[in-house]
Amino acid sequence: MVPGSPRFEREMQTLEAMTRIYCRENHEQPNDSSCCARCSRFLDYARYRLEKCAFGEDKPTCARCPIHCYTADERAYAKQLMGRAGPRMLFRHPLLALLHSIDGALSAGRIRKWQDRRAALKRG
Ligand SMILES: [Zn+2]
Repeated sequence: MVPGSPRFEREMQTLEAMTRIYCRENHEQPNDSSCCARCSRFLDYARYRLEKCAFGEDKPTCARCPIHCYTADERAYAKQLMGRAGPRMLFRHPLLALLHSIDGALSAGRIRKWQDRRAALKRG
């Protein structure tokens, strides 16, 4: 996914909002920064993976993705973070939460399209 594209920016906005919620409730933030060192590292990693995402602008939601590109450590961190911050998103960032659930509903179709494209490439 290309940094600066609308979908990329929204994905990052969602990730940052969730990480901030999680961090504020569970960690201490050094003054003048919005997240602790561990959560900042997670965000850098998530951004890097998003840039490399094979689906581009048609990205399914990570929970439904068949690829699982995160390392085991970061994946476990993401799971814990999403579990705590997810329910809060509906109230704190209703628009981001709504758009994410639409992406969830569209995921299966996007994955199928991507698989068809790959099969066609293989056949040549
Ligand atoms: Zn933190």
